[in-house]
Amino acid sequence: MSEAFEKIKRAEEKLLCRTYSRYPVAITRGAGSRLWDVDGKEYVDLLAGIAVEGLGHCNPELCEVLEIQARKLWNISNLFYQEEQLDLAKILLSTSHHDKAFFCNSGAEANEACIKLARRYMRKIKKVDAYEIITMSGCFHGRTLGTLAATGRKSLQDGFEPLPEGFAQVEAGNIGALEKAISSRTAAVMLEAVQGEGGVVPLPADYLRSVEQLCRERGILLICDEVQCGMCRTGRFWAYEHAGIKPDAISIAKSLANGIPMGAMLATDEMSRGFEAGSHATTFGGGALASAVARKVIEIMLRDRLWERAEINGGELIARLEDLRGEMPDKIRDVRGQGLMIGVELVSGAPEVWKELLNRGFICSLSHNVTLRLLPALTIAREDLDSFAKTLKSILKGG
Ligand SMILES: *Cc1c(COP(=O)(O)O)cnc(C)c1O
Repeated sequence: MSEAFEKIKRAEEKLLCRTYSRYPVAITRGAGSRLWDVDGKEYVDLLAGIAVEGLGHCNPELCEVLEIQARKLWNISNLFYQEEQLDLAKILLSTSHHDKAFFCNSGAEANEACIKLARRYMRKIKKVDAYEIITMSGCFHGRTLGTLAATGRKSLQDGFEPLPEGFAQVEAGNIGALEKAISSRTAAVMLEAVQGEGGVVPLPADYLRSVEQLCRERGILLICDEVQCGMCRTGRFWAYEHAGIKPDAISIAKSLANGIPMGAMLATDEMSRGFEAGSHATTFGGGALASAVARKVIEIMLRDRLWERAEINGGELIARLEDLRGEMPDKIRDVRGQGLMIGVELVSGAPEVWKELLNRGFICSLSHNVTLRLLPALTIAREDLDSFAKTLKSILKGG
């Protein structure tokens, strides 16, 4: 490690709460799907800030909007009407069957909004005392106390108890288990159509349709967490579209403003009746600066049909990785994913392979110490995906 890097590492140990175990790299600059570290080394970025920079780092069109808006208005609180928020809501709602938006600042907050709205809709509109949210094994919904309870992973909850009540979890993919778990207390089922932090696990389309049908039959709400799998990543604008389902609400964040913190909940007119003035709020939500950037993000996604690009380029990479698995079944256990949300589960030595990729200038993440996870910018060049596949092959061959 260089002296420049060691200096940064030492400063952090002194200054920051120890919440992150970081990669041994300090990034100073980015452009598109390229990053540079403090020593000037160049990387191909296959992670894009964990699916945040969907349009690449420092996207010039977004920089322009950001600069113009920065001189006009940043944030004025939600005490005022703001057109930037409405312009964003209009274009965002044009991408789905939902009718109403609520803006916030992160994925966890978007899920909190969904959970709160589900509970309040049941109490105030349906007038039943249903509050429980059922989630799926392997899910991830965030780190606030509520979304941590929804996530249900003991290792993440350790030391933070007591967590809020009213959450239950069932085995993902098992419709019988869900049927058994639903009771008169159930308000909603919440799921990721493609689980991200769980290791890139797409839930089968027929299972998702059965979940939707069950929700309709039992009069409960369906919430899709699209924080990671949404916004063109899986080859559709929203990942739930693959199954042809219509969730009552969805949560959005990561790619929404390409790195400016922003989250959103979209809900149907019916479900959004659960909120009234004063029910829910956040100071920064839908601020003018973030809203102007997010609006441009969606304009570009629609203009350039980036879900198609994700489907084609991601599909080619998945096919290539599948071939590689065929060649080396002793090295690659599984290739999963949709579009540009891809997991490569290795038989062994995944941390070493991940480290060697980093040495050779390729950034991806490592899920549960066994799966290489790729979440590149939707705009990444095919050559970069090709060179990743070649490099992975060479590492696995021991070259
Ligand atoms: C990242 C993520 C979250 C949490 O988002 P934050 O912005 O970190 O709060 C929630 N759900 C899913 C599916 C995620 O990937």
